[in-house]
Amino acid sequence: MIKIYTKIFAILFPIFLYGCAQPLANLPEYNQQLSIEEQKIQNQLFADSWLNTYIDVSETGLNILFNAVDLCLAEDQIMGIGVDIATRYDGPEAIRSELTKKLLLTDEITVIATGINTPARKAGLLQGDKIIKINGVDAPYGINANADFYKIIRDSKEKKHKLLVTRNGQNKTITVESKNRCRFGFYVDLDNNNFNAFADGNVIALSLRMAKWLAQDDLGIALVFAHELGHNANHHIDDKTTNMQAGAGIGLLLDIIARSQGLQTDFMNTGANIGALSYSINYENEADYLSVYAIALSGYNIDDAANFWRRFAVEVPSSIYSKGGSHPSTGERYVRIERTIKEVYSKINNGEKPLPN
Ligand SMILES: [Zn+2]
Repeated sequence: MIKIYTKIFAILFPIFLYGCAQPLANLPEYNQQLSIEEQKIQNQLFADSWLNTYIDVSETGLNILFNAVDLCLAEDQIMGIGVDIATRYDGPEAIRSELTKKLLLTDEITVIATGINTPARKAGLLQGDKIIKINGVDAPYGINANADFYKIIRDSKEKKHKLLVTRNGQNKTITVESKNRCRFGFYVDLDNNNFNAFADGNVIALSLRMAKWLAQDDLGIALVFAHELGHNANHHIDDKTTNMQAGAGIGLLLDIIARSQGLQTDFMNTGANIGALSYSINYENEADYLSVYAIALSGYNIDDAANFWRRFAVEVPSSIYSKGGSHPSTGERYVRIERTIKEVYSKINNGEKPLPN
């Protein structure tokens, strides 16, 4: 049957095309090889643009992970120095060779960014430095170098680290002292269509489009990064999973009762969704509350934190009227954050370290 249709289609298709209107202009000659070359140029431009955005997020994110460490539980704190490093094996695969070219990556560890107000920044490490030795021992090298380097710093009993680096062909020794940070990782994906940020309990993720928009104002990346840190710091994902399981359990019970009456139902899925959504807005409000403290601790001026949600409302106008979904309306967020700013200031003015209630 399918074969017959294919044959009919094959016969009709050329007739169809003939019947269609066609462009009339004679286009200049097209060389496909040139467009393959052009693709390479465009992918390099895209990689450079992604990298600029990623470095903004890295510098800001590391600042917050170190300086808002008091918001994270002891079990979520690790030692670090505040560098973002890479070898030629790191970075998103689609643009890895472009990044390697741009950043002159090799098998050696190269510093990509240092966080604002981190030990690495204060010690004078710079983007482009290649780390050759740590405390007199050869630094990790090759495919696992990235993870191995963080592990050395994290597990070391000694806080002071002597790094031998090469900068512009010259050797240089830099002493840096590790400090506690929140353990969470972060990344910027390659998605330039979706306007999205999330935290999964381990990582803080921004879509490229979101990150680029946030980078347009001083507080954007910091505030959204701090909001996602709030979710991870207070283990909202664990809580949501528990609520989802409780909801699914009740739903399953309803399914069993309904099926015993001969009805086909799926209360289990519905229950899980309701369970996941229950308290969702409360979690969002808590993450907003924590975000103001996190950026205050990280040295940002919090005066503009509420206004950020006005700018967000203009960008995502559906959020102005959102009701009963997973997120509070931007109106609610603005009003609550204004109150939080006052609370933070009253602590600072009392000479206290601004820590959440
Ligand atoms: Zn959130």
